[in-house]
Amino acid sequence: LLEVADVRKSYGDRVVLADVSLTVQPHDVVCLIGSSGSGKSTLLRCLNLLEDVDDGVIRFEGREISDPRVDRRAVRGRMGMVFQAYNLFPHLTVLENCTLAPRRVHGLSRTAAAARARELLERFGLADQAAKHPDRLSGGQQQRAALVRALCTSPTLLLLDEITAALDPELVGEVLTIIRDLASGGMTMVLATHEMAFARDVATTVCFLDQGRILEAGPPAQIFSAPREARTRQFLQRVL
Ligand code: ATP
Ligand code: MG
Repeated sequence: LLEVADVRKSYGDRVVLADVSLTVQPHDVVCLIGSSGSGKSTLLRCLNLLEDVDDGVIRFEGREISDPRVDRRAVRGRMGMVFQAYNLFPHLTVLENCTLAPRRVHGLSRTAAAARARELLERFGLADQAAKHPDRLSGGQQQRAALVRALCTSPTLLLLDEITAALDPELVGEVLTIIRDLASGGMTMVLATHEMAFARDVATTVCFLDQGRILEAGPPAQIFSAPREARTRQFLQRVL
């Protein structure tokens, strides 16, 4: 579904991604872990074409999307992304947030977009929040709504960047439950997270990033219980 080959990215003379390669198969849940500044967000932003790569190739659904001539909006329409915070448009209701992209990018009618959005809001326990503006929702509800909005375009890949990091601890669970649900429903995801227990539980592959490199990648049992690299061990000792 997604293939990243030798991607490099620098800001000025600071190398942020160095030869990152990664393959994501349908139904994979890839968790990116690593210290602050290791490049997790930058990698996700490059996948979603919010940033240009300096070198290397990104292929998504068989197409080379790192080609500058690619239609970015069309790519983003197939790849949902949710950030740590400020995902929803504050001046629109939850329902309007959820129907905007399906109508504008995918050309759905107002009725069809609303029907799909309501179905997903219902599924994620947000049916009675549809008419509200985001600032009337709890942080957990806002992130659930942001997930629904990302799902409304029926993406084949979901990119999630620490979507629980800004939440009060008691709200983290409700958002993680949804991700777990999506994972067991076969949704393909690449997510950056500091929730190690969650990564261990839900990931098919864990990638440890260190200074812009994927230092090691493997199934969670291997990365968490028998990391090969000293730096991975050090990191895990600090966070576990
Ligand atoms: P965190 O866990 O704190 O979210 P991260 O792994 O997501 O960290 P990135 O946000 O990808 O890390 O940042 C990687 C490096 O790139 C950092 O050193 C950061 O300062 C730098 N960086 C990120 N965005 C920019 C930018 N727009 N301009 C310059 N430097 C940037
Ligand atoms: Mg980040």
